[in-house]
Amino acid sequence: MHDATPDVIVIGGGPAGLTAALYLARFRRRPLLLDGGNSRASHIPRSRNYPGFSAGIPGAELVAHMRQQADAHGVSPIPATVDRLERLPDGSLRASWGPADARQSAQARFVLLATGASDHPPPLPHLEQALQEGALRYCPVCDGFETVGKSVGILTDHHGGVGEALYLRHYTDRVTLLRTSDAWAPTDEDRARLAAAGVRWVDEVVDSLRLWDNRVTARHGGGETSCDTVYGAFGMTVHTELATALGAECDRHGYLVTDPHGQTTVPGLYAAGDVCQGLNQIAVATGNAAVAASAIHRALGLPGARA
Ligand SMILES: Cc1cc2nc3c(=O)[nH]c(=O)nc-3n(C[C@H](O)[C@H](O)[C@H](O)COP(=O)(O)OP(=O)(O)OC[C@H]3O[C@@H](n4cnc5c(N)ncnc54)[C@H](O)[C@@H]3O)c2cc1C
Repeated sequence: MHDATPDVIVIGGGPAGLTAALYLARFRRRPLLLDGGNSRASHIPRSRNYPGFSAGIPGAELVAHMRQQADAHGVSPIPATVDRLERLPDGSLRASWGPADARQSAQARFVLLATGASDHPPPLPHLEQALQEGALRYCPVCDGFETVGKSVGILTDHHGGVGEALYLRHYTDRVTLLRTSDAWAPTDEDRARLAAAGVRWVDEVVDSLRLWDNRVTARHGGGETSCDTVYGAFGMTVHTELATALGAECDRHGYLVTDPHGQTTVPGLYAAGDVCQGLNQIAVATGNAAVAASAIHRALGLPGARA
């Protein structure tokens, strides 16, 4: 049975939520950590840019270490997908989850939302295998370095793919832009920029994609393009819905707006990680979770502090 009246409810148990829970536990607070169990980090084959691991670390292993550390401080994630967050008459926030015949809830003065974001996948078979083999990637900031000198395809159905192709050109001169829908094509201006940067593009729409021997082959028209790695550039869903239902503001990219302490525009509702900023990185998620947890600790009150 969970604590129904914790000091803080943390929603989401990826790097941001686990860091916040750890900090709060070490501040001698009682956090309740609720997690739907699908951290983006658990899909990382091996992160090589998270500080502290010279040989890199698989994302699932990093999350397991973070869970162990939180567990050693008495906080274990409760498997739960919160589907409702509401303000109660006394000003506290209530989170609810579970099926209609077995609803559960908890309430607290403060909630920290760390629900992350999800990538829209490309129409590629064997997605998880492709990710684990490094044949499919999503995040040039994370792993563009791993593509130096390799042949890289950008799969896209919208203008954002052009920017991603130009970004990756910094790492390799073998970049090809591939479109998966005839609803979008690079404009003349896009083509001029791609040509000036030495990025190839294929006019025909991709008919099929094949994963074979750690490589991805795209068939289009009468031809095909074979790549060491493809990046999927199809956008993301940012999991803000619990916050926006309470009136929280998002920026023009869909991320929750927060103040420098991590508080959203809804008093008492904080956010950390991919749900509230576009530099989707573990170091950033853990950093702003630490900031938000510290602010909540102070807001809960310290001995002798002015109200
Ligand atoms: C393939 C891949 C490779 C990457 N490589 C790197 C890398 O090398 N370096 C790097 O820094 N970053 C990398 N990233 C990005 C990194 O994974 C994210 O920035 C990081 O996981 C963000 O942490 P988070 O805690 O904000 O969100 P997440 O890790 O996504 O965790 C969010 C959690 O909230 C839960 N949740 C969502 N909604 C609810 C709800 N309603 N109720 C309860 N729980 C909920 C989810 O199930 C999930 O467990 C990579 C991402 C991908 C996909």
